[in-house]
Formats: sequence, structure tokens, C-alpha cells
Amino acid sequence: MNIAADVAAAMDDLGLGDEFSYDDLLAAMQSRQERPLTIVDCAELPPREGINALWLPTERVDVVLCVPTDSALHRQQFVLHELAHMLLNHGDDLLVDPCDVLFPDIPPATLRRLLRRQHLDTEPEILAEALADRLAAAIRGSAAHESRFSEIFG
Ligand SMILES: [Zn+2]
Repeated sequence: MNIAADVAAAMDDLGLGDEFSYDDLLAAMQSRQERPLTIVDCAELPPREGINALWLPTERVDVVLCVPTDSALHRQQFVLHELAHMLLNHGDDLLVDPCDVLFPDIPPATLRRLLRRQHLDTEPEILAEALADRLAAAIRGSAAHESRFSEIFG
């Protein structure tokens, strides 16, 4: 596993450069996936180590479930981790039935199947976390840039 190379390749694939806003990223992901992306608060996610969000890919929509949080920054971080899985094509083997993701009732069997993948020390998780950090840095860079801009011109 070469994390730096894989993260760099995923950033290239994204095609947004080194700095971009969170909204730009969400838009780019939807055109890349060729389907809409929905982010839904889900209090039913089991509070286990590191499980703050889940990505449910379906043929018609990508759903990201998030543990509810008051912190916009935490929420963004949870979502970035799932977007990283998307960018790394980690979901290809996990397409779920759209009927399974009618909220708020996720069948326990579906949830278990998805959660089984969530072991933080596996290669896909390490890679997704590294890419999520890279995405967060790009968004921070863009935000810093914006505020400098408004200091000068605002
Ligand atoms: Zn993950």
C-alpha cells in the first residue's frame, strides 16, 4: 500500500486542484457518480469506535448517513470520510437496494452488512482517512483564501 500515491491519484481523479470548497466537492462527486448525493442524519447508527457515518450506494442515489452532531465541522469530516471511500471506488461491491434505504428504517441485516466493513485498521479505512484529511486540507485552504479575499475586497 502506498498511501501517498493513492491519495494523490484520487485527488487527480477528482480534478478540482489543490483548493476547493465543500460545495464544489459535493457537486463534483455527484457528477462523477452520475447520481445525486443525499446526506441524512441518522441517530440509529450504533455508537461504536469510529463509526460516525455510512455510505449507502444505490443505483439511483448515494446516501451518506451521519450521526447527528451540533458541530458543522465534525459533520463535514464524517462526510469527507465517506466521500473518500466513493473516490477510491470502495463501494463497487456493496450496492444496496434503494428500498433498503427508506428512512429512518434501515433493516438491521443491511446495517450489519455495511458495518462489517468498518474496521478502522484495514487498508481501505486507512486510505479513506488519509484522503479525507487531504480533502479537509483543500477545503481549509479554500476557506482561508476566501477570507483573505474578503479582507482585501470585502
Ligand atoms: Zn470508512
